[in-house]
Amino acid sequence: MAAEKITKQNGKLQVPDNPIIPFIAGDGIGPEIWAAAKDVFDSAVQKAYHGKKKVEWKQLLAGEAAFDKTGEWLPQETVDTLIDNLVAIKGPLTTPIGKGHRSINVTLRQKLDLYACYRPVKYFDGSPSPVVHPERVDIDVFRENTEDIYAGIDFVSGSKEAEGLLKLLDENGQLDKVRFPKTSNFAIKPVSEEGSKRIIHAAIEYAFDHNLQHVTLVHKGNIMKKTEGSFKQWGYEEAATYGDKIFSMNTYDQIKADKGKKAADDALTAAEYSGRLIVNDVITDNFFQQSLLHPENFDVVVTMNLNGDYISDALAAQVGGIGISPGGNINYETGQAIFEATHGTAPQFAGQNKLNPTSLILSGAMMFAYIGWNEVADLIQKAIAEAIKGKHVTLDFARQLPGSEELSTSEYGNFISKTIEGY
Ligand code: NAD
Repeated sequence: MAAEKITKQNGKLQVPDNPIIPFIAGDGIGPEIWAAAKDVFDSAVQKAYHGKKKVEWKQLLAGEAAFDKTGEWLPQETVDTLIDNLVAIKGPLTTPIGKGHRSINVTLRQKLDLYACYRPVKYFDGSPSPVVHPERVDIDVFRENTEDIYAGIDFVSGSKEAEGLLKLLDENGQLDKVRFPKTSNFAIKPVSEEGSKRIIHAAIEYAFDHNLQHVTLVHKGNIMKKTEGSFKQWGYEEAATYGDKIFSMNTYDQIKADKGKKAADDALTAAEYSGRLIVNDVITDNFFQQSLLHPENFDVVVTMNLNGDYISDALAAQVGGIGISPGGNINYETGQAIFEATHGTAPQFAGQNKLNPTSLILSGAMMFAYIGWNEVADLIQKAIAEAIKGKHVTLDFARQLPGSEELSTSEYGNFISKTIEGY
């Protein structure tokens, strides 16, 4: 069986039985968690397809490992291979410190235009949690990945750029709004209509595909009217393109203005009963409150880059922390995707074989679902659920779960593989 590339043709991913899937093991704890995850992936594929399908893993260099070997943090060959093979998986990468260096993750997301950061946040029975009802959390977060303050347009006070910006503000009568103009640094926050609409479209499509009832636009549009406020407006415009398939709170407001609150409430209730998709919005600070108090009110959440960063970690903390939260960075048009552990390199634990590989393992499950190998994704999810419920866990969980069996990273990986082989 010759290994072949995954491609996208006529709008659909074409996945051969022996696909080449590039991986970046990552820095810090990356190589340990990757070793554990890879064994789990191979066991699950073998169990699901009995040798008829098999992944050809292709190692790529990035981060510290690449810098030590090639003098570059992100070699062009790595970028080219990722583009060429469409779907990949990665461990965490060290962010280089020093002038001119940007996060490698942010660079990859921008170079490959991976505009959707998709993070499902779901509770596994038995996971340690700081909240009373973590089982009520089942939220799919869609975070815009290429715009917002992450564009990296930062000006330091006194620089030519900052001076130019002050001049521009002055010409537009805005200079008075800067409290300390001489000493202020600036960052630019680009939020575009097409950038917003494509992530909102992806979130709505996801809700339809998975039979979910609510898509919530999270924004701070009450303060940042022209960026986050427009995100909300573009969200409702995108929802309107679906006609009757969606009932949005924009429609609710129109009915309320025309016919009164009761008519609007009745229309919303009717929409809910008939199972129509509801698109609403919530201000970011209120979202943090509501998602702690009533997480069951949210299904799919779509938001801009910085909000999405905070929201996904805060939600992850409710269901067991970043050690088990998976993620994927996807461009739904080109098909390009990189699935990745959502935590960092945890350098203080590197080489100790102690931390949790679940984030990377579940990111792999997401990747298999993405390429249509749902049987593999299901086997992995089932085995992880069983391990956590039975308290066979790594250090981070063991510390919080009395009576648990503490396993090393590799022992935990073996446990998951053996569980899958036993199904
Ligand atoms: P980190 O996520 O590496 O570690 C923070 C803490 O989280 C750790 O001390 C540990 O207690 C816990 N933790 C992390 N991974 C865990 C796991 N698998 N199991 C259990 N507990 C886990 O964050 P940091 O210390 O702020 O960053 C370290 C490096 O990682 C930096 O260079 C940072 O830029 C980079 N980073 C990379 C990514 C990425 O590649 N996607 C993401 C975040 C941070």
